[in-house]
Amino acid sequence: TLPKSRQPELKTALPGPKSAEIMARDSQHLSTSYMRPYPFVPDHGEGVWLTDPDGNTMLDFFAGIAVSTTGYAHPHVVEAVTAQMKKFAHVCLTDYPQEITTSLAERLAAHIERPDEKWRVFFGNSGAEAVEAAIKLARNHTGRSHIISTLGSFHGRTYGAITLTGSKTKYKAGFGPLLPNVTHIPYPNPFRPPLGSTPETCGDAVLAHLELLFKTVIPSNEVAAFIIEPMQGEGGYIVPPAGFLTKLRQLADQHGFLLIYDEVQAGMGRTGKMFSFQQFIARSEECQPDIVTLAKGVASGLPISAMLAKESVMTWAPGSHGSTFGGNPVAAAAAHATLDLLEGVVKHPGCGESLMHNAAEVGGFILAELKKMQREFPFIGDVRGEGLFIGIEFVAPDGKADGKLRDAASMAMFERGLLNLDCGESVIRVSPPLILTREDAQTGLQIMREALRSLPAR
Ligand code: PMP
Repeated sequence: TLPKSRQPELKTALPGPKSAEIMARDSQHLSTSYMRPYPFVPDHGEGVWLTDPDGNTMLDFFAGIAVSTTGYAHPHVVEAVTAQMKKFAHVCLTDYPQEITTSLAERLAAHIERPDEKWRVFFGNSGAEAVEAAIKLARNHTGRSHIISTLGSFHGRTYGAITLTGSKTKYKAGFGPLLPNVTHIPYPNPFRPPLGSTPETCGDAVLAHLELLFKTVIPSNEVAAFIIEPMQGEGGYIVPPAGFLTKLRQLADQHGFLLIYDEVQAGMGRTGKMFSFQQFIARSEECQPDIVTLAKGVASGLPISAMLAKESVMTWAPGSHGSTFGGNPVAAAAAHATLDLLEGVVKHPGCGESLMHNAAEVGGFILAELKKMQREFPFIGDVRGEGLFIGIEFVAPDGKADGKLRDAASMAMFERGLLNLDCGESVIRVSPPLILTREDAQTGLQIMREALRSLPAR
């Protein structure tokens, strides 16, 4: 029996008639680049629930790819956005300062600044734009051109960002030539340790590999920056081993290149800290970056991104970078409201002192429950993560990644009313809105359990 909470409501087979009609039109006029793996057409949302035009209601463990931090139609966000719309929707931040973006920059910087280290903020509209800004700033500031990135990474789809992206070749195939002077090295994945290493030594192995590259093919004095997701998202929701980021920071200082953390997916409270790298700082690992990129969860679904950099690094000249919509005031209003809830300035009922606190709390509960499920289902090879940033990796009996089984599991969960999303080769990510209560988490976990039990015996 399911625990007491609202339950998904499936009134028709998916898609129902109204959804099917929209899907048919969608397939006629939208770009063929979209994937559409699930037959669901969201019509409206409330909290962690999404309803289609046929009245089917699903529980959301996906949050629009880790974006809808405060769930759907959060009254505090709606109010903030409405109030700003009544003032103005746009003026242009490149030419006129606006209090709403000034104070948003102050608020974001406050989460990373230290007494002896001031930070500044550049606003864009998407994750890729924040990454582009970071590359441009790193090259401009250092006067060097080479960028090191990691395999399995995702940094966006614009030219600079896809060049840095180290996952699927389909992102690059047929689009070249890409940016020159970019090199990828393995990500230290403790579950699949690269370079013949072990879960404990994978971080050191990756850094030794980088030092070898510096001695043989890339003079380190030509390296502008190393960009890395402190917890890797699209690549499989992977947490690097203890000590890795600290040693990477030391290497950056030794060779004079900048350290860029792409926090687009794991940042904004998802792991239980404002930025995922702060989980390592909290464990006394000194790994402060020089540049941070943010997007997705910043404004509960309105498009705004940010590139934060130390004041000593953000040295480019006025007018050297910008965008018409970047730092849009309506999106900035949504970002303020989101921060209110993340920080606990405004409380969300049932979510304790703050949404960051709730992410840590409910995420810890889900992780523990998934570890129990791992004992029941031998095809779950690994469960890992922090807060509401959790990956479940599906394996074949020989330990290899089993993407087909993952896809079957994902569809079985979907058919039972749970929106979920894959990542990596054989991983399902758990990335719900941060307002998820323990009761709704239990409902989702129960659906997962039933879905996994329904898979054909192997
Ligand atoms: N960086 C990371 C870590 C991401 O996960 C993503 C999106 N999945 C991006 C950058 C690109 O963001 P956007 O799609 O908003 O351009």
